[in-house]
Amino acid sequence: MLTRKAEDYLEAILNISEQKGYARIRDIARALSVTPASAVEMAKKLDDKSLVIYRKYDGVTLTPKGKEIAEIVRDRHEIIRAFLEIINVPKETADKDACIIEHELEAKTIEQIKNLVRFVQSAPDYPQWLKHFEIFCATGVHSCKPGERRREKKGKGLRFSH
Ligand code: MN
Repeated sequence: MLTRKAEDYLEAILNISEQKGYARIRDIARALSVTPASAVEMAKKLDDKSLVIYRKYDGVTLTPKGKEIAEIVRDRHEIIRAFLEIINVPKETADKDACIIEHELEAKTIEQIKNLVRFVQSAPDYPQWLKHFEIFCATGVHSCKPGERRREKKGKGLRFSH
């Protein structure tokens, strides 16, 4: 099991490698807001685990195993970021917090967040409940008409706790 920090490095190395074709220590350090010395230290640790190849003057390359982990972490990052944006978290905060949440969740939780994100993104029309949620965030008021909610309650046995 890797530490959060190690996962963040793998993810950053993947992103930088894709943008630039290679990942240098100074680029990794900048991306993670750490010192080059810390980046070198982690590069060596990841090299010991055969997740990257670190050569002093060539920088850091992911091994297939390292790339596999990096892609899983990035996938989680994208899912959580999209979820946070759906619930109206500002882009920058969503990106920052996705990087914190991405490491700790159970696979099932990620799967359900992914399902929700897909459910929203694949909706043929902008989901009405999301529109209502936006109004609720701004005003604290539900914009469903009371009659509609009563009908739903009776018809489908739904319970509203608020
Ligand atoms: Mn991340």
